[in-house]
Amino acid sequence: MTTVAVCQNKQKKVVFIIADGIPADVVERVQTPNLDAIAKEGRYMRAFVGGEKEAYSQTPTISAVGYNSLLTGTWVNKHNVWDNDIKAPNYNYWNIFHFLKQQYPIKKTAIYSSWTDNRTKLIGDSVAAAGNIHPDYHADGYELDTINFPHDKQRDFMHKIDETVTEAASAGIRNNAPDLSWVYLEYTDDMGHMYGDSREFYNAVSMMDAQVGKIWSAIKYRKERFSEDWLVIITTDHGRDEQTGKSHGGQSQRQRNTWIVTNCRNLNNYALYYQPAIVDIMPTIARFMNINFSEKRRREIDGIPLIGKVSIADMKVNYFQNNLDISWKALEPDGKVKIYVSATNNFKESKPDNYQLMEELPVNREHFVIDVKKVKSSFYKVIMEGRYNSVNKRSITAD
Ligand SMILES: [Zn+2]
Repeated sequence: MTTVAVCQNKQKKVVFIIADGIPADVVERVQTPNLDAIAKEGRYMRAFVGGEKEAYSQTPTISAVGYNSLLTGTWVNKHNVWDNDIKAPNYNYWNIFHFLKQQYPIKKTAIYSSWTDNRTKLIGDSVAAAGNIHPDYHADGYELDTINFPHDKQRDFMHKIDETVTEAASAGIRNNAPDLSWVYLEYTDDMGHMYGDSREFYNAVSMMDAQVGKIWSAIKYRKERFSEDWLVIITTDHGRDEQTGKSHGGQSQRQRNTWIVTNCRNLNNYALYYQPAIVDIMPTIARFMNINFSEKRRREIDGIPLIGKVSIADMKVNYFQNNLDISWKALEPDGKVKIYVSATNNFKESKPDNYQLMEELPVNREHFVIDVKKVKSSFYKVIMEGRYNSVNKRSITAD
């Protein structure tokens, strides 16, 4: 028990980095000594974006869409950012900045990014509907500064911006050590769009790796001098097409195939034996920072934490003739699972849903067929609540 107490005394700090548009095969092919050094402490994992293919949560493999899946732990059918225009984010699905500030107003947040929309629209800086939160530190807007960063055709300016973002993040971490930091690096995606699978794209990945190395140095500096426990997660927002590597947005395997690098050494069985998704990062950060979700918000989160105990994963729902055929994997055999069904989807308008408890059974049963004749609907939200986590799915009925 002593070790637990010591760990809990350390301040929890999180940095997540999105390096734009790098398929898993590319980050595995290019030499990335800094990512390797971080993965050596924790792990490199293949991951995925894009939601459930050809199902209700299918999500375009587009940048802002992916960032918001990370931030909210939900797919596009909920967070509603369908492309880079970010027209109408549904802030009822809170992002990790909102969750943190709600529970720990004193904790400090930061964003270091080339793309101002990441702060103003996705986090929702000072937006009432997004909780009126405000990142304590931000370094962004460089893409609008054509004097210091004149836009050249080769887009070298974007590499310079990423360098500036990296310097700001490193200095911020060393000097202020925000509790939650988001670093966003763009240049890799630019080179992917211009050159596809090419030396130029691979070079951009090497440059990104060096930038991650600088940020990692700042974190090591803090770890050596302060009683702080740092979680680092590096990932990408989408892969690229199989044919040329120039484009993305679709659902092919290479566009969906991504990766996660973390320094965390205590990953759970879900992380080790299933392919994690971008939506798993938010609940992982939340669990690390001791953020508690209220029941109604927990029920909407699509991700599963990669650390700590997990009761249920790999939930599947199939509707047939007034029945919901539900199956899952029990990753911890103890305890029961409660299955709730709602025929409403009021949460998206910030109103309560009418959940009915349909069944309670041992989690290790791993399957159950529910008769939903009494709750006739063309649409069901199905929630499974286990001892250590909840999962949810939707079912669109065929008849
Ligand atoms: Zn992107």
